[in-house]
Amino acid sequence: MEVLSYTEVDRVEGEVGNFKVRLIKKPRYVLEDKCTGCATCVEYCPVKYPDPFNREISKNKAIHIYYAQAIPLVAYIDDSCRYLREGTCTACEAVCRNEAIDFSQEAEPLEIKVGAIVLAAGFEPYNPELRADYGYGKFANVVTSMDYERLLCSTGPYEGEVLRASDLKHPHKVAWIQCVGSRQVNPPGANSYCSSVCCTYTQKQVILTKDHDAGAECTVFHNDIRSFGKDFERFYARAENLPGVRFIRSYASVTKDDPHTGKVTVRYATNENGVQEEEFDMVVLSVGFNPPGDVKDLADKYGIELNEHGFCKINPFKPMETSRPGLFISGAFNGPLDIPESVVTASGAGSQCGELLNYRRGDLSVERFYPLERDVSEEEPRIGVFVCHCGANIGSVVDVPSIVEYALTLPNVVYAREQLFACATNSAKEITAMIREKGLNRVVVAACSPRTLEPLFRDTLREAGLNQYYYEMANIREHCSWIHAKEKAEATAKTRDIIRMSVARARLLEPLKEIDLPINKAALVVGGGIAGMTCALSIARQGHEVYLLEKERELGGVARRLHHTLEGMDVQEYLNDLVRDVYRHPLIRVFTKTTILEVTGYVGNFVTRVISEKGLSEIKHGATVIAIGADLFTP
Ligand SMILES: Cc1cc2nc3c(=O)[nH]c(=O)nc-3n(C[C@H](O)[C@H](O)[C@H](O)COP(=O)(O)OP(=O)(O)OC[C@H]3O[C@@H](n4cnc5c(N)ncnc54)[C@H](O)[C@@H]3O)c2cc1C
Ligand code: SF4
Ligand code: SF4
Repeated sequence: MEVLSYTEVDRVEGEVGNFKVRLIKKPRYVLEDKCTGCATCVEYCPVKYPDPFNREISKNKAIHIYYAQAIPLVAYIDDSCRYLREGTCTACEAVCRNEAIDFSQEAEPLEIKVGAIVLAAGFEPYNPELRADYGYGKFANVVTSMDYERLLCSTGPYEGEVLRASDLKHPHKVAWIQCVGSRQVNPPGANSYCSSVCCTYTQKQVILTKDHDAGAECTVFHNDIRSFGKDFERFYARAENLPGVRFIRSYASVTKDDPHTGKVTVRYATNENGVQEEEFDMVVLSVGFNPPGDVKDLADKYGIELNEHGFCKINPFKPMETSRPGLFISGAFNGPLDIPESVVTASGAGSQCGELLNYRRGDLSVERFYPLERDVSEEEPRIGVFVCHCGANIGSVVDVPSIVEYALTLPNVVYAREQLFACATNSAKEITAMIREKGLNRVVVAACSPRTLEPLFRDTLREAGLNQYYYEMANIREHCSWIHAKEKAEATAKTRDIIRMSVARARLLEPLKEIDLPINKAALVVGGGIAGMTCALSIARQGHEVYLLEKERELGGVARRLHHTLEGMDVQEYLNDLVRDVYRHPLIRVFTKTTILEVTGYVGNFVTRVISEKGLSEIKHGATVIAIGADLFTP
C-alpha cells in the first residue's frame, strides 16, 4: 500500500478496469525520506498561527506535523511561513539536523494507473456562522460539537481540559443545542435531512463532560432524540439518568452573552412553559453533516453525479456504486454515517473492488523480508523498557519520568526511556534502533491495551532481528491512567507495580516459532436473504467457492414479502435477479431446507455438518458469514 498524503486528484481518464489518474503532490517543503518527525524545526519556527487541526482554538507553527500521531509522521510548511511570504527566516533549515527542509520543492504532477477508484471524501461539519441565531463566531463561549470534541481530547488544545475561550475557566453549566444545520429548510444553507449521528455523539459528550467534572450541569435542547439501532437507546438512558443532566424538548437559539461573566443566554420554547431564557457557561452547537466543501469540483473531476443534497448519488440497491462504473463510494460521502457504518460501507466498497479486480489479485504484492533472527537464548536477559505518555492520556496522570527511573532499577533492565507516542512511526524506529544499539533481547512497552498495538510492536522486534515473542506489553492506560485519572500518586504507584510485573515476566520469555497452516479458501454463508445472497455473490466473484445455507425452501428471506421501497424500487424484481445470479454462479452451491447439526474446527479450517434437501452433508470451509436476519417481535 502506498500512501500519498498532501496529494490531490487533478484528472481521471479511462474506464472501469483501466483508469489513468493524474495527481498533484503539493509541496510540503520537507523531504519525506529525511524528516524523522523529531519536531526540532517546530520549536524554532517563529510563526504562530491558529491550528486548523484543533479547530483554531490553539496555535501551531508554520512548520508542523499535522497532529502528533500523523501518518506519515513528517513535518510540512504551510503558507503562513515567513520565508514563503517575505523571503526571510529559514530558521527551520538551520536547525534541522537531517537536512530535510527543501524550499525548492514545487507541486509535482504524478500519474497512476488503477482499475477501480473508491471515493471516501467524507463530510464537512455544518458551519453555524451561516445562522445569526446561534451566535457562533460572535460569542466566545459558543462552540460547535467539533470544537468540543477537540476540547475533550487529551491531544486537544488544553490537553483534555475543557476550558472556555473567554477566561480559560472550566465551564460548569453547559448546554447543547441539537439539529444545528439539520432538519431545517429555512433559512437557506441548512439541510432538510437528519444528520443521524449528532444525537448520539451529544450523549457521548455529555457522559464525557460528567467524567471530567462529576458536578457539571448538562442540558440538551432537542427536537426529539433519534437513538435508533441496537444499543443507542441504552446510551441515551445512561446519559439522561446521570445526575445534573436534563434533556429538554424545545426549539432553542442563543440570544446574547454577558461580556463580564462570559455567560451565554439560551432562549427556548416548550409546550408546557412557553418561551424561557437561561444562562449557561458554555453552549455547544450539535452541528450536522454537509458534503465536502469542494464537492462540485470533485464530482466534475471524477465524472460522478451528486444527489440533491450534494452527497454522492447512489442506487439504493447498489449503495456502494456511483453513477460511473468502476468508481465506488464509502463512508460519509454517502450521507451522514457514524464510524461503524462508515467501516461497513468501506468493507463493502473494498469487496466490490475485489470483485472487479479479482483477475489481478496479488499482482502488486511484494513479500516483506525481515532480518535473520538473532539467537539470544543463551544470553542473560537485557531488557529495554519504553514508557509511553500517549500524549496526555498517560502523561497527565502518571509521572512518566519517575517511572523510567524506577524501571532502570529493576533486575535485567539495561535501558529505559519515555516516548510521547510509542505507536508513532518514529518511536517504533527508535525501539528498533535501541534493540540493535544496546543489544536488548527483551522489550517491554508500557502503553495502552495490547488488543490494538501488540502486533505493531511485535513487528518492531522482528525488524530488529529479535524473535517477536521476546515482547511484553504493560497496559498503563486502560488499566491505570484512565481509571485513576484523579488519583495521580496512586496511579503512578500502580504503574510501578504493573511495570515490575511485566519486567518479571519478560525475563522468563522464550522464543516461539510460528507455523503456516493450510487454509480452506471456501466460505460458508448462513442465511439466504438479501444480505446472505449479496455476500455469497461477492465472495464467489472474488474467486472463492461458497456454500449458501437457507433454512426455508426458497431463497429471499423477509424481502420476499416486500414489494416496493420508499424510493419506488421494485423489491421483487431485484430479488429475482439476485436469486438468478446466485443459482447461475458456478462457484455457489445452494442448500435449502437446511439445519446445521454441528460446527467444528477453527479459523481457516471449519467443518459444518448439515441436513438439507440434499440429505446429510459435511462442508469444509475457511470462513463463515452469519446472515440469518432478525425475527419480528410478536405483539
Ligand atoms: C462532532 C462529531 C462527533 C462525532 N463523534 C462520533 C462518535 O463518537 N462515534 C462515531 O461513530 N461517529 C462519530 N462521528 C461521525 C464520524 O466523524 C464519521 O462517521 C466519520 O468521520 C466518517 O468517516 P469518513 O472517512 O467517511 O469521512 P471523514 O472523516 O470526513 O474523512 C474523509 C477524508 O477524506 C479526505 N478528503 C476529502 N476530500 C478529498 C479529496 N478530494 N481528495 C483526497 N482526500 C480527500 C479528508 O481530508 C478526510 O481525511 C462524529 C462526527 C462529528 C461531527
Ligand atoms: S522558514 Fe518558515 S517554516 Fe521555517 S522556521 Fe521560518 S517561518 Fe517557520
Ligand atoms: S441526529 Fe438528532 S441532532 Fe442530529 S439532526 Fe437528527 S435529530 Fe437532530
